[in-house]
Amino acid sequence: MNIPDIIIAVDGYSSTGKSTFAKMVAREFDFLYLDSGAMYRGVAFCAMEAGLAREDATFDEPALKALLPSLDLHFRRTDGATKLYLGERCIETEIRTLNVSNYASPVSALPFVRHFVDDRLHAFAADGRVIMDGRDIGTTVFPDAQVKIFMTAEPAERARRRYEELIAKGENVTLEEVGKSLAERDYRDSHRETSPLRRADDAYVLDNTHMTLHEELVWMLGLLQGKFGLLESPGLSW
Ligand code: C5P
Repeated sequence: MNIPDIIIAVDGYSSTGKSTFAKMVAREFDFLYLDSGAMYRGVAFCAMEAGLAREDATFDEPALKALLPSLDLHFRRTDGATKLYLGERCIETEIRTLNVSNYASPVSALPFVRHFVDDRLHAFAADGRVIMDGRDIGTTVFPDAQVKIFMTAEPAERARRRYEELIAKGENVTLEEVGKSLAERDYRDSHRETSPLRRADDAYVLDNTHMTLHEELVWMLGLLQGKFGLLESPGLSW
């Protein structure tokens, strides 16, 4: 039996490897991968470019609210990868800096921003067979998702992974700075009023502190086999 056209929701703390995991599962089982965090990063980036983001991580909310409907933020699939575009401009690199990360979390706490992003996510996932990662996918965006995963890992390990990622991209950051940014985002994401980060009651917990990608995929295969029966081709490519 192959996996039916379901929605798989992957939520969890910052830098737990949600997108790496979700991309790998998408490739392995032929799902469309959608990164909901990219949309929040995109909104933060646009607010910053428009001069609506303040140094204390607050925003000119009326102006941002007025700007949102004109933002043509969308995903495009090129060479098997899904990337975020603003109109014709690919902004995938721009939205991954530490600075944009630090504004994405406060901007995502604004209810009108969440409403805007949720609408977009529903439109992109309309055809099903989607794996989407974020903070509230299994609780708010797709509460009926057939498979929900909640990812976690020890904070020091997460900071190390994120630090190495940013250094490899040429960003000038310290491990301490990255750890602090992660802790602040986790706190903010878990304590906001609208759609806070929390594990859905029916989500399976994946703690990957000491796991390789291959072990994560084997874990997922086991979960899917348990839920949907034996897969026809259990040979894994990872
Ligand atoms: O996943 P990523 O780190 O790219 O997300 C950027 C930010 O967007 C997060 O720190 C979080 O505040 C916010 N976010 C959210 N809900 C989601 C996805 C991301 O609030 N579903």
